[in-house]
Amino acid sequence: MTDTRRAAPSGPLPYRGRFAPSPTGPLHFGSLVSALASWLDARAHGGAWLVRVEDIDGPRTVPGTDLDILATLERFGFHADEPPVWQSARIERYRAALDALVAAGHAYPCGCTRKEIADSQLHAHQRNTTLIYPGTCRSGLHGKPARAWRLRVPDYAHPDAHADTHTDTHTDKHTDKHTDKHADAPAHAAVIRFDDRWQGSQSQNLATEVGDFVLLRADGQWAYQLAVVVDDAEQGITHVVRGADLLDSTARQIWLQRCLGVPTPAYLHVPVVTNEEGEKLSKQTGAQALDPERPLDALIAASRHLGLALRDPASTSLEAFQADAIDAWRRRLAQLPAA
Ligand SMILES: [Zn+2]
Repeated sequence: MTDTRRAAPSGPLPYRGRFAPSPTGPLHFGSLVSALASWLDARAHGGAWLVRVEDIDGPRTVPGTDLDILATLERFGFHADEPPVWQSARIERYRAALDALVAAGHAYPCGCTRKEIADSQLHAHQRNTTLIYPGTCRSGLHGKPARAWRLRVPDYAHPDAHADTHTDTHTDKHTDKHTDKHADAPAHAAVIRFDDRWQGSQSQNLATEVGDFVLLRADGQWAYQLAVVVDDAEQGITHVVRGADLLDSTARQIWLQRCLGVPTPAYLHVPVVTNEEGEKLSKQTGAQALDPERPLDALIAASRHLGLALRDPASTSLEAFQADAIDAWRRRLAQLPAA
């Protein structure tokens, strides 16, 4: 393939992006769109593109699919710039991060059963199907055994008319509002705002929309939120490009980054691919595995999903397609964020 990689430019951090598939089934069209977008963005920036296998969800992981996905990526012309990493080999890093969060007072053990949390919330709001944890164990376990570990999110004091300002993602959120210099418009630590490069300005109130969230589950599984933040930080990821189904997780990840004192990458969430019923394409919703013998057809269809205006939509070589798509991605970025 054409070597579109270049030495890191001087100035801001050299671009490092990644594609992070879960080995729950073979690569399908939906995951191809995410792979293509992350690869194009890295190449358009002269950056590095890494692959991380997110295989810590034991019950959902299908043995052997990891190697199948990596082989398919190669067939489709996506060559990672560093050897892939497996989350299952990095458990001690997640443990160390949890220990640091506990030591800093950010994380605490929770002894509540699912039923106890549900009972405390009978007339309270639910978010999707996830209950908002009421913070019962913040003050201690009161004799109950620890089941899970949770991250404390900031309290939301009161809904001021202009209670939050658009703050830089690197602003120190540990100062409480009494020490905030902008007394007219105090920044609410509970409200996480960020500019998504594709979706535009985003905001989520962690206190009212999420609650203290789980880092280590009662079944011993590490939560995706913790693993992805630890890995992005350790791998020096500067730009996260992924499907919009993860847009909703981003505020939690930004809060975790602040608690761990690690940088917040730039985010870009591409539209998810849905089936005819409007469900996100996945193994569960009947996504077909990609045909490794016909990469170009699928790549051109994935480009179309991303709204890329290819100059030659009938490329006959991967190399020609890639050069065309990188240019088209640059033109597409110029039209973003979407209104
Ligand atoms: Zn609890």
